[in-house]
Amino acid sequence: MHSLRLISLLAGSALVASAAHAAPAPVADTVLLHGQIHTIDAQGSIAQAIAIKDGRIVYLGSDAGAKAMAGPATQTIDLKGGVVMPGLIDAHMHPLEGGAGLLACDLQYKRLTVPEFQAALSACAAKDGSQGNDGKWLIAVHWFQQEMQPLGVDMTKAMLDALPTQRPVAVFSSFGHSALVNSKALALAGIDAKTPDPVGGAIHHDDKGAPTGLLEDAAQDLVRKLVPTPTPADDVVAARAALAAMAAQGVTTFLDADAPRESIHAFSVLSKAGELTARGHFAPHIAPEEGPSPEPALARIVEWRRTYDQGAAQVQPTIMVRTIKLYMDGVITAPAFTGVMLQPYLENHGTPEKPDWQPGTNKGPAPYFPPAVLAPLLERITALGFDPHMHADGDGAVRIALDAVAALRKNQPARDVRPAIAHDEIVDPTDFPRYKALGVTPVLSLQWSKQAADTVAGAKDYLGPKRYAFMEPSGLLAKAGARITFGSDWPVDPLNEWFALKVGVTRRNDPSAGPEYSQPLSGGPPLSVMQAVRAATINAAWSLRAEHQVGSLERGKFADLIWIDRDIFAGNPDAIAQTRVLLTMVGGKVVYRAP
Ligand SMILES: [Zn+2]
Repeated sequence: MHSLRLISLLAGSALVASAAHAAPAPVADTVLLHGQIHTIDAQGSIAQAIAIKDGRIVYLGSDAGAKAMAGPATQTIDLKGGVVMPGLIDAHMHPLEGGAGLLACDLQYKRLTVPEFQAALSACAAKDGSQGNDGKWLIAVHWFQQEMQPLGVDMTKAMLDALPTQRPVAVFSSFGHSALVNSKALALAGIDAKTPDPVGGAIHHDDKGAPTGLLEDAAQDLVRKLVPTPTPADDVVAARAALAAMAAQGVTTFLDADAPRESIHAFSVLSKAGELTARGHFAPHIAPEEGPSPEPALARIVEWRRTYDQGAAQVQPTIMVRTIKLYMDGVITAPAFTGVMLQPYLENHGTPEKPDWQPGTNKGPAPYFPPAVLAPLLERITALGFDPHMHADGDGAVRIALDAVAALRKNQPARDVRPAIAHDEIVDPTDFPRYKALGVTPVLSLQWSKQAADTVAGAKDYLGPKRYAFMEPSGLLAKAGARITFGSDWPVDPLNEWFALKVGVTRRNDPSAGPEYSQPLSGGPPLSVMQAVRAATINAAWSLRAEHQVGSLERGKFADLIWIDRDIFAGNPDAIAQTRVLLTMVGGKVVYRAP
C-alpha cells in the first residue's frame, strides 16, 4: 500500500483520479482460499474465500475475487476445502483461575486408576525439576474423586508418599469438598491423631487413629492456608496460560464473569506487552453485603474501569471493564441446594429401596440480593454505563432477576442496557417469554444439558418430574425467542467449547460417561447447530456490545476467525465434540496453529 501511495503522489493528480476511477482492489495482507467460510451473518452465507487487510475483513466471496486482491507480499492460506467460522466468544468464564489450574497440576476431571493418578502427579513433580528441597508445594487440581477406579477405592496419603518427591503435596477435588495430602503436608499443617475436626470439616482417620490424608470441607483450610497466595507475576503466568488454552480452543473473545483486580491487572500486563491474544471483557462483582449501600463498591469498579478499560474496540485485542457481576444464588444440585427456588426441593421420606419423594421445607437460601435491594442496584449500575451479569441458577432467583429488569425497563425505557442472566438451570415456563420481552440474555453452559452425575443423581429426584422436565431449558428458551448465549464457566468444567456445543445440539453425554448416561436429557428440544454456533459467536458478541466488530465474518469487521478440521454443520452432531482447531486468527494475526 505504501508503494502504491508513493507512486500516486509522484505521478500527480491525473493518475490518482484514474486510479480512483479504476477502483483498484486493496492489496490484502492475507487471503484464505478454497474454503467453506461460514460467515454466521444474518443470512447464514457461505463464502469460498476471504481477504484481510490491516486486521479487518475486506472481502468475502469467490477465490477469483480474493486472488484479485493478492499482491506479491500477500500471505496466502490454502484451506483445502476446510471450514472457517468466526472465532468463538465465551461470555462467561473465570480465566485467571482456569489458567492457574492448568499450571498447578491439572488432573483434568478424568476418571483415573490409582496408578494413573500417581503417574499424573509424578509427571507434574518432574516438570519443574524441584525435588522438594525448596519446600515448594505440589498442588494438583480438578481431581475427579468420585470417579476414581475401581469405584470406591480408599484414597490415602500413602499413595502420595510413594511419589518421587520430597515436596508437600495437596490434591484438590473438582467438586471442592475434599483434598488428599501427603505426610509432609500433614506434618507442616500440624495435623496428627489428636487434631480435632474443625467446625464444618472432617479429618479422616484410619483404625489406629492416624490421619489418612483425606480432608473434607473446612478441614482443607488447615492445608490451604499454608500454600502461598499467587504473586502478581504468578497471575501473569496464569493469564498467559489461559490465553494459550483459549487460542487452541478457538476462543477469540471472553468475559471474565467474576473479575478480581488481579485478573484485570494480569491481562493488562500482557496487553501492554503485546501478548493479549483474545479480546478481554471483565466483570468485577459486587458482594451481597455491599448491595444495600453500593456506592463504595461502585466507586471501586468505576476506578478499575478508569485504570484498565482501553476504550473503543481496536483491531488488536484490548481490555474492557463494562459489566458488573451479581450472584443471586448458588447451585440447585445436591448436596448444595443453594439455588433459590419457587417451590421447595423434594426430600425422600421413604428408604433408598422404596423412595417416597415429597416436598420438603427448603426452597434454598434467601436471594443474595433481595428484590428491594436489587432494583435500585440495577438502576445505579446501569446509570454508570455498566451492564449487569446476574448469576441465577434456580427459578426463584431467575424470577427476581427478571422482575428487577422489568422495573428498570419501566423506569428507564430509553436506557440502553443489555442485562444477562447466567446459568438458568431451572426456569419457570411462565418466565420463558420474558427474556425476549425484557431484552435479557440467558448465558448458558451448554455442556450441562446432558445426563450426568449432577443432573441425574444430584437433581432429578430433588426437583421432581415436573421441574426436571424443564431442566437446562436452552431449546425452550430459544423457542420463546431468547437470544441464547454461550459461556463455558471454565474452570468449573474443562475448557472444551466443542464438547459444550455438541451437548447443546444433542443433549447427550459422551459415550465414555457410561451407558447409564447415554440417553438425552429431558428438557425440551436441543439447539440446532446454527443456534449453538450463534450462541458462541454473534449472540455472545451482542451480549458484550461487540456485535459490530466481531461475532460474524463480514466486510469491515475484525478478522477474528478459526479454521476447524471438520464441517460441524453437516454430519453426525456427536462428532462436533472431536473438532480440532487448526488455526486461530485474531485481528488478522495468527495466534494459534495446530502442531
Ligand atoms: Zn461462573
